[in-house]
Amino acid sequence: MSEGMRLMAVHAHPDDESSKGAAATAKYVAAGALVIVVSCTGGERGDVLNPNLKDDPDLLRDLVEFRRREMKAAQDILGCEHTWLGFVDSGLPEGDPLPPLPPGCFALEDLDVATEALVRVVRDFRPHVMTTYDEQGGYPHPDHIMTHRVGMAAFAAAGDPTAYPDAGPPWQPLKVYYNGGLRLERVRALHKAMLARGLQSPYAEWLEKWQSRREERVTTRVPCADYFAVRDRALLAHATQVDPGGFWFQVPLEIQREVWGTDDFEAALSYVPIPDDEDDLFAGLGTAQQADALATRGGLQLAYDGRLTFEAVRS
Ligand SMILES: [Zn+2]
Repeated sequence: MSEGMRLMAVHAHPDDESSKGAAATAKYVAAGALVIVVSCTGGERGDVLNPNLKDDPDLLRDLVEFRRREMKAAQDILGCEHTWLGFVDSGLPEGDPLPPLPPGCFALEDLDVATEALVRVVRDFRPHVMTTYDEQGGYPHPDHIMTHRVGMAAFAAAGDPTAYPDAGPPWQPLKVYYNGGLRLERVRALHKAMLARGLQSPYAEWLEKWQSRREERVTTRVPCADYFAVRDRALLAHATQVDPGGFWFQVPLEIQREVWGTDDFEAALSYVPIPDDEDDLFAGLGTAQQADALATRGGLQLAYDGRLTFEAVRS
């Protein structure tokens, strides 16, 4: 049913594509869809988070090149396409007061410049569906928040023939979803399941510290438990960014499959209605040919605006 459909996942850094929605990516690829991951930045300012590689001299000499190779390995494991948008990692500011963002970084980039770059990729790949992060970035890294702004702006502009006329012929993606990665509800369920089996949960401290930044409004749960192992392999391919002994890998896959076998998304905007209990990002779009016709028809009216729902929930 996903044969020939096209999905674009817009992410901030190499490795985000493997920690957020990666099992759904692998599932759609296996079902005959084309998936492209867009990495807005090269991850230039990431720390080395794998204790085994922390002081590796080759790596410290050229982290960027390592991360490019890791991304290629993860891409091959997920079976997707990939492109770099070419902006520079802003880094996660730490300290009190927070230091200013480094000049030239993605989060300080002119929104128009970054949006045009993404619109060009959208008009070239012609996705039926896009995913990006929510307005708080899903995780408040400046690059994740910028990814949200650029992703939403490109979704709005790509189908408008008067916007960025030099960036290719208009193409209107039909839906955009927020991709939140691990959500509170899921972490709670996994935590409980570990304790119920007499196992130690890696999430106790995390749950204590968790501040729900806003209501989570999952609209769409994509069953993809069969691809959790692929997801983990893709994540491990980002060897500098992932501690193989870390909490990501401490919950046995059979427990994850049993307790929470989906990747979850929030519909943000859609030109087709979003049904209750949606389980497919391509739902309502018909065949690839029908979706192509819709995406180029022009004059489409939004059928769903999840941003209004978020506002209503907050107030
Ligand atoms: Zn990131």
